[in-house]
Amino acid sequence: TSSRGCVTLRGAQIRDLLDAKHNVLFDCDGVIWNGETAVTGAPEVVSLLKQRGKRVFFVTNNCTRPRENYVQKFCRLGFTDVAEEEIFSSAYCSAAYLRDVARLQGKVYVIGCGGVMKELQDAGVPVVEEDSAADREPGTSIYNCPLDPDVKAVLVGYDENFTFMKLAKACCYLRNSECLFLATDPDPWHPLRGGRITPGSGSLTAALETASSRKATVIGKPSRFMYECIASQFDLDPARSLMIGDRLETDILFGSNCGLSTVLTLTGVSTLEEAHRYRDSEAPEQKDCVPDYVVESVADFLQALEE
Ligand code: PLP
Ligand code: CA
Repeated sequence: TSSRGCVTLRGAQIRDLLDAKHNVLFDCDGVIWNGETAVTGAPEVVSLLKQRGKRVFFVTNNCTRPRENYVQKFCRLGFTDVAEEEIFSSAYCSAAYLRDVARLQGKVYVIGCGGVMKELQDAGVPVVEEDSAADREPGTSIYNCPLDPDVKAVLVGYDENFTFMKLAKACCYLRNSECLFLATDPDPWHPLRGGRITPGSGSLTAALETASSRKATVIGKPSRFMYECIASQFDLDPARSLMIGDRLETDILFGSNCGLSTVLTLTGVSTLEEAHRYRDSEAPEQKDCVPDYVVESVADFLQALEE
């Protein structure tokens, strides 16, 4: 039928849904926290799910922190029983992809941040040292900046120090058709406090895609790879798994791509109106962005868990 999905969940329905599921995958920003503020009730929901024997995972497109740093953030925000092994970020999964899937024989040129560098280092994936000081030497330009002949992959993620020089180097490396082109995630932008936004990894990837006339392989949501990364470490039945997210084009599409039931929370980026627009669209591919269920907040799960 043309109008399935977007079912607003209430009391007993939430209980029935949770009874049917064993694994709950949470997006982070916009679902369990907004920046440095936990969503009210979210830490209790995570703890109660675990006490009820559910397995909980966190699937974030935010590549700016390494896993160990996430554990600290969870603690700081009141999520006291989250383990590093339950956290899957686009930085961690990009490193896992380069090591285990691409089996990279060479170095990675990174446009990104500390989180990506640390995960690559932990995975033992060699990185070319970006020497921005050398690039700023008088006389250094896009004509003569050094290029490393061992680079066999370019990885693009969120980078607040993105420069024209980095873009220029990356598209030189990508002239070699054997050089892989990966993006941590496709996120276009993110909300900041006070109504501001920041450009996301997707906007930097788009610049490099245009400059190189190539398309990046996306590692983060909505790509299935993040799910495969979890499934390679934990035994997951998609039919018994639930994805909870706030962005239709990444989280909900990710859930659809992986065969999971999906819940949209309204504490983040996407609105109910946007969900209805996907639902009511004539284009079949738009249906994959329609959530099965909608709740105002993850806190709506509290009552079902407390009884
Ligand atoms: N990437 C960056 C740089 C961000 O700041 C954020 C959200 O704050 C995200 C990605 C999105 O993270 P998530 O997938 O947890 O919503
Ligand atoms: Ca989110």
